[in-house]
Amino acid sequence: MAEKKIRQVAIYGKGGIGKSTTTQNLTAGLTELGKSVMVVGCDPKADSTRLLLGGLAQKSVLDTLRLTGDHVALDSILKTGYNGTRCVESGGPEPGVGCAGRGIITAIGLLERLGAYTDDLDYVFYDVLGDVVCGGFAMPIREGKAQEIYIVASGEMMALYAANNIAKGIKRYALKGGVRLGGIICNSRNVDREQELLRAFSEELGTKLIYFVPRDNVVQHAEIRKKTVIEYASAAHQAEEYRTLARAIEGNENFVIPNPMSQERLEEILIEFGLMDNITDDFRI
Ligand code: ADP
Ligand code: MG
Repeated sequence: MAEKKIRQVAIYGKGGIGKSTTTQNLTAGLTELGKSVMVVGCDPKADSTRLLLGGLAQKSVLDTLRLTGDHVALDSILKTGYNGTRCVESGGPEPGVGCAGRGIITAIGLLERLGAYTDDLDYVFYDVLGDVVCGGFAMPIREGKAQEIYIVASGEMMALYAANNIAKGIKRYALKGGVRLGGIICNSRNVDREQELLRAFSEELGTKLIYFVPRDNVVQHAEIRKKTVIEYASAAHQAEEYRTLARAIEGNENFVIPNPMSQERLEEILIEFGLMDNITDDFRI
């Protein structure tokens, strides 16, 4: 029998766009499909697994290392959350000290050494902060750790700028290794013609809009209770949206090296969709 391959997936996107919320809800959806999943939070905020763990205070990998030195037991950094999900937070350095991506490098190395990547896993998700893919934040896609990337974006200008910059980073690593872009996830901000805009944007990048997640207050209601929507309001429409996203990722076969846009082309699209005024070259800074 062929050895089963763990799908290692990195979720990138601008801060506050909804990466952690989307990743955890999508993960909860995957567990309902019988999948075994590990989530590795790669954001110094260390809140990538809060909804799966019910807010349990979890020491990040970097915090644990600071306390115990090199003698770390796997169960001190890896906690079991909703439906058996395995949860890790890489953590970050003290603010203003050192490379913010350092925790990710340390966490992945330690998880490997401690045997966290067991064969029964179907997925590992890396929830990565960053408007650009550089330094430590590129770690999950360097050396082929994650082969598959999704960018979370919305119809807001800054989210699209960030997504295009992330695509530039992905392209660089894709040309050197096997990492591919699996698609764009739109986490809606209720912008006019948002779905159409995100479709056009994705197509321009050479990828697909894999799913359009609506904005819904039930997400905040669940968040206050430290739960995913799938756990808190299993019958809600939004829970079904996340389940559909999970199925879209499970069935995805579209993996590409992205074609990032020039600044001019991106701005053309933004103007076309009314996100930017059509300024003449004279006024362009
Ligand atoms: P990130 O991880 O990208 O920094 P978060 O997942 O923490 O972003 O989301 C930021 C905020 O947006 C959270 O407070 C969350 O409740 C809210 N949010 C995310 N997705 C949705 C959605 N689809 N509908 C409503 N609120 C959302
Ligand atoms: Mg986050």
